[in-house]
Amino acid sequence: MSVAPVVAPRAEEKPRLLSIVCPAYNEAEGLLAFHRAVRKAMAEIDQPFEVVFVNDGSTDATLQLMGELRARHPATTIVDLSRNFGKEIALTAGLDAARGDAVVVIDADLQDPPSLIGEMIAGWREGYDVVYAQRRAREGESWLKLVSAGLFYRLMRGVGEVGLPENVGDFRLMSRKAVDAVCTLRERHRFMKGLFAWVGFPSKVIQYDRAPREAGATKWNYWKLWNLSIEGITSSTLAPLKVSTYLGFATAAAAFALGIFFVVKKLFFGDPVQGFSALIVAMLFLGGVQLAVLGVMGEYLGRIFNETKKRPLYFVNAILPSKDVACDTAAPIRDERRAG
Ligand code: UDP
Ligand code: MG
Repeated sequence: MSVAPVVAPRAEEKPRLLSIVCPAYNEAEGLLAFHRAVRKAMAEIDQPFEVVFVNDGSTDATLQLMGELRARHPATTIVDLSRNFGKEIALTAGLDAARGDAVVVIDADLQDPPSLIGEMIAGWREGYDVVYAQRRAREGESWLKLVSAGLFYRLMRGVGEVGLPENVGDFRLMSRKAVDAVCTLRERHRFMKGLFAWVGFPSKVIQYDRAPREAGATKWNYWKLWNLSIEGITSSTLAPLKVSTYLGFATAAAAFALGIFFVVKKLFFGDPVQGFSALIVAMLFLGGVQLAVLGVMGEYLGRIFNETKKRPLYFVNAILPSKDVACDTAAPIRDERRAG
């Protein structure tokens, strides 16, 4: 009897199930086209797959369409969240419900081309745990978005614990190992790209051109993007607190020097009532710095407050698991209500 090698070369393992996780919020307009594109991409690859739709509290016909797709294609899981929780948490719910040996995370608006999935699977079969897609060009995005995104990535690289690869969204393939690692991180303030980068594992990058949205409108506005950036920074680094400390020290030093200057001036030149403007400027400046520093501390305090509540990340209205998946699955469905 031949003995199998203890460590089988992973490239030769026959991959089992691929889960394609897609969070969707009011995507009725483009959902069918999305599913068609996924089927078309997968038809060219010998790879069993399930689609895991997460309905993030949509108010349009998204859920109904998901149901229709599931009736026609039984290898479809639907996770119906109890309300809109936002993309980061919807994505987490999808990862929790995915049973595949590898998971592809993809947006429903066809901005992440499903045709790349084949290349991702190839990377996975080569033995990479993470294969992420990097956009070469961002068509149909305003210069303001491009500039602000560029600044954000530069800032994250400068202050973050692990640098974020530039122009990389959530669109990626992760092996079961990487998905399990991400699923153990249950913090409320989630910046998925940061979490994906934080867990590590051997990864490979493939490049693509990001197309404009196929249908519907983006759910992001500048205010939401700003908040996401703050989330990204505060959830992965304490740098703003350090900056506050140094800002405090620097202003204190400046105030001290100014103080000496005024005392010396008073002693040598006598100084009748003067310097009102200097006084008011110094007062306002110090007040402003103090408020800014308090604000930064408040951001972190608020996050500590939210984390200490230890609430579940989301609630599920219903999970309709995929059927007729013609292969073994790696992981049982996790239910947030039980997992806590
Ligand atoms: N999305 C979601 N919940 C939300 C907002 C968005 O599940 O609260 C989904 C959305 O349906 C889409 C993906 O997240 O599949 C990306 O959203 P969008 O296209 O608006 O973001 P962008 O591509 O501009 O980053
Ligand atoms: Mg989009």
